[in-house]
Amino acid sequence: MEGIEDVRARLSTPQKILITSHRNPDGDAIGSSLAMYHWLKDQGHHVMVAFPSEYPETYEWMPGSDDIQIFDLDVEPIAAFLQHIDISIILDYNSLTRIDKLGALLEQKEDVYTMLIDHHLYPDPIGDFILSDTTASSTCELVYRFITAYGHRPNLIVSECIYVGILTDTGSFQYSTSPRLFRIVADLQEIGINSNHIHDAIFNNLEEKNLRLLGHCLANRMEILEKYKTGIIFLNKHDFKVFDIQRGDTEGIVNHLLKLKHVNMAVFIRQQPTIIKLSLRSKGNFSVEEIAKTYFNGGGHRNASGGYTKQGLGATLKQIKEILPQYEEKLNNITIT
Ligand code: 5GP
Ligand code: MN
Repeated sequence: MEGIEDVRARLSTPQKILITSHRNPDGDAIGSSLAMYHWLKDQGHHVMVAFPSEYPETYEWMPGSDDIQIFDLDVEPIAAFLQHIDISIILDYNSLTRIDKLGALLEQKEDVYTMLIDHHLYPDPIGDFILSDTTASSTCELVYRFITAYGHRPNLIVSECIYVGILTDTGSFQYSTSPRLFRIVADLQEIGINSNHIHDAIFNNLEEKNLRLLGHCLANRMEILEKYKTGIIFLNKHDFKVFDIQRGDTEGIVNHLLKLKHVNMAVFIRQQPTIIKLSLRSKGNFSVEEIAKTYFNGGGHRNASGGYTKQGLGATLKQIKEILPQYEEKLNNITIT
């Protein structure tokens, strides 16, 4: 692995290390961050994990999650730690713009050795050590590859964290699978992870209000545009209040649209206090990444991307419908790869 000897030399003495991941952290962001956190701490380094915004309650059971610092909630501890870091580790994102003001602070800091481990498309050239593989299922898969290339075998806690990101980013092994990935998962099981337990903790742990919200989305907020093989679900400000929607509560809703035989693209739109947030998903070779990047200041992966817009909800829905005709041909002729 290119550059790993450089990393080894750096890590040969105790270092002060800041791990960051993206806004609205998902299972892969949290899993990869906590895996690296435990692996580095066990080797005597002084490590902090900082996210721009809070992570979903679903992940509160994960060892080390209590130690995660949230920039939106408390800038001070992160800003103080950042002053004296030796190493910055960027996980599951690849542009400092994805972490807002925290990114600006990091950018100002000089003499920091930066490591980037990520699987998103079009990485910015940031990092003295770069492990960027867009064919990888998850950043967690890359963290496993990194740790093993380093010559270590992950311990049980690190393995559990890695498994969380693999499980969530592959949609429970629906996408981005490979022989290599299943070999990694086999090794994690040999190390001793309880995959049933982890699946249960993440997916079978909803509150009643979550299913009521899903019911509302499917019954009242879903529109299917057959001509364009597209499904749309939106939630307005009022829905957020009525259903008491908190961080993480809308996770996974977009995927239900892809269960429809005649839907090849799923669009999930949320009206947040100052912006409209979009989640896009697709089947086969249809790229939602292109749409997220071109129209919604976003990006991600071919089949799962996100973005935002500052227009109103009505205008956003209108815009989507205006974009669709140019993709009609592609949306009606996808190939599952
Ligand atoms: P989600 O729809 O679950 O929020 O995100 C799906 C994918 O798109 C994730 O890989 C995430 O990193 C990426 N993504 C979500 N929102 C944004 C955004 O605003 N900008 C960029 N560049 N990527 C995003
Ligand atoms: Mn990821």
